[in-house]
Amino acid sequence: PPEQLPADPSKKTLVVLGSGWGSVSLLKKLDTENYNLVVISPRNFFLFTPLLPSCTTGTIEHRSIMEPLRHIIRHKKRAVKYYEAEATKIDAERRVVKINDFSDVKGSVSETEVPFDYLVVGVGAENATFGIPGVKEHACFLKEIGDAQQIRKKVMDCIETATFKDQSEAEKERLLHMVVVGGGPTGIEFAGELHDFFEEDLRKWVPDITDKFKVTLVEALPNVLPMFSKALIEYTEKTFKDENISVRTKTMVKKVTDKNIDVEVTQPDGTKVKESIDYGLLVWATGNAVRNVVRDLMNQLPPQKNSRRGLVVNDYLVVDGTEGIWALGDCSATKYAPTAQVASQQGNFLARLFNSMAKTQAIEEDLYNLDQQMQAATNEDEKARLNAEINLKGRSMSKIKQLSPFEYSHQGSLAYIGADRAVADLNWFGGAISSATGGELTYIFWRSAYVSMVFSLRNRILVLTDWLKTKAFGRDVSRE
Ligand code: FAD
Ligand code: NAD
Repeated sequence: PPEQLPADPSKKTLVVLGSGWGSVSLLKKLDTENYNLVVISPRNFFLFTPLLPSCTTGTIEHRSIMEPLRHIIRHKKRAVKYYEAEATKIDAERRVVKINDFSDVKGSVSETEVPFDYLVVGVGAENATFGIPGVKEHACFLKEIGDAQQIRKKVMDCIETATFKDQSEAEKERLLHMVVVGGGPTGIEFAGELHDFFEEDLRKWVPDITDKFKVTLVEALPNVLPMFSKALIEYTEKTFKDENISVRTKTMVKKVTDKNIDVEVTQPDGTKVKESIDYGLLVWATGNAVRNVVRDLMNQLPPQKNSRRGLVVNDYLVVDGTEGIWALGDCSATKYAPTAQVASQQGNFLARLFNSMAKTQAIEEDLYNLDQQMQAATNEDEKARLNAEINLKGRSMSKIKQLSPFEYSHQGSLAYIGADRAVADLNWFGGAISSATGGELTYIFWRSAYVSMVFSLRNRILVLTDWLKTKAFGRDVSRE
């Protein structure tokens, strides 16, 4: 990478929290020449979440979908500071962020403050558990790379334990029951991947489990994938039936213990019946909840009082009740779904906003200086020269296009459902034409869409190689 410009005290300090879809999209498009940029995130990499379900079974190796943040910031014009830490408090009044290094290795300082002129909050969301007892203690989540690794390990652990000498039939059945809670795209994609793993690899390498391995998807609502069209919901439910994935809709989990879940099933006549379901592996995918650092900021700001989903922002993503604080992605509350598509478009928008703000500010400063010189000038020629310069600057100011508010352009929704099939609700030509497709062609489209989306060339090659390796040799069934 080329030499970078050093920090410039005359430029504003822009602090960006998070290294996910929103913050990294902003980082990639931001002209860092205009700012002293500081990035704070406990994760020193960008994670390509759409392929995370594939890591749970080893279809894709986890490092293939991680892009080191250092690669991204080292290519910026001005040096960017990165601190591997969690923001624990945003003090909107004092304009500082408290940060804490929660990683295993700590130096003598692991807690400090970072001041900001401008702040972008892109910390995402955490897993919703709705306070249901036992979820945090016993379930696996599917949000971070560590979650996918834990699931991969636990699937194999369940299988090896089920085949332990003298294991009872009932215990085998429990250990080989893989339960997924939440019929949103995360739960659906994971169940699909697990089905592939079983059909393509486990069946072959551990034939003893064939008659007992079972995947069940539990969903509280009457159907799965509520954001997809009716035809695709039906297509998904039918495909799952063919794949022997049992879909339990209208079934709400109420309690979790180490070996079973208590559910409440709504019967066709509206009555509710309680049931207990035994499991070996439990994956919890019931959507998003607000992070503590975000909730704390909301509590400092009266206009945020009634928000439940996250930080309420205006059309330019400025957090209501603040000046110079923006929010994007899953930690913000907008009319859009909390998706990577939305977060990345918001990141691109903020990059344009900051780039044009910097240009405007630079011209404003020049105009101020010229005005001062004009007031001090006594010579008529000098005054005329300064006047011409002021006019020129004024014209370039008016040429900087007024940025219109953020507008989301929905490209469609895609989800992998296993057995080489995907469902896609797509929007073409800005939503003028939309199509709902499901099947193997959609799956090929799904793969190529994702490969072309995986940010760096390096990651694209890694993902393609993983797919080829899986095709040629199958998935690895060793337990790490
Ligand atoms: P994130 O990408 O979650 O990033 C948040 C960042 O903030 C992380 O770097 C995190 O480490 C950091 N952070 C957390 N706490 C703090 C703190 N206190 N201080 C500083 N930094 C902090 N969306 C789609 O559109 N298409 C898909 O196919 C798709 N597939 C998905 C599959 C899975 C398994 C999951 C879980 C999600 C998927 N999504 C998909 C949703 C998508 O990943 C999110 O909407 C998106 O990641 C939101 O981006 P974000 O930048 O707001 O948050
Ligand atoms: P989600 O919010 O989309 O779905 C969660 C599901 O869990 C809901 O259907 C809800 O009814 C159910 N649920 C909640 N509590 C329950 C309980 N106690 N018992 C049983 N069911 C319960 O969550 P997600 O799938 O994690 O997705 C989060 C966000 O990420 C969404 O915006 C989604 O669109 C996005 N995402 C997109 C993709 C994709 O486009 N392929 C993939 C993954 C995630």
